[in-house]
Amino acid sequence: MQKFMCEDCGTLFDEWELVRVPEECHMDGYVLGCPNCKSDAYRKVYTCKRCVEYYFNEDLTQGYCKNCGDVIAMKLRIFLNTEFDSSEMEYIDSILDGVYLSDFRELVNNMKTA
Ligand SMILES: [Zn+2]
Ligand SMILES: [Zn+2]
Repeated sequence: MQKFMCEDCGTLFDEWELVRVPEECHMDGYVLGCPNCKSDAYRKVYTCKRCVEYYFNEDLTQGYCKNCGDVIAMKLRIFLNTEFDSSEMEYIDSILDGVYLSDFRELVNNMKTA
């Protein structure tokens, strides 16, 4: 079920939990707001594929949150550093046709983790 999160107080809730907040300027006489703080600054949130926590869309990359992305990068770095020596990396580079795995390993080795 689609969840929403309040940008002001961080409360996570379902759409049916929204509360009517009196708002004279509004055509209907009310706006829908956060069940906790009544703010109308709430937005849809989505689950991270790995940790299943809720995040705003812009905080997910390919469905993964920043923390889980760091863990994935770390797993890849460990794999590249433990499975292949430099000579084997050069062999792999030669069969990758232009994509340099050693450059790629350099890249993940330099990636900042949280
Ligand atoms: Zn709120
Ligand atoms: Zn995650």
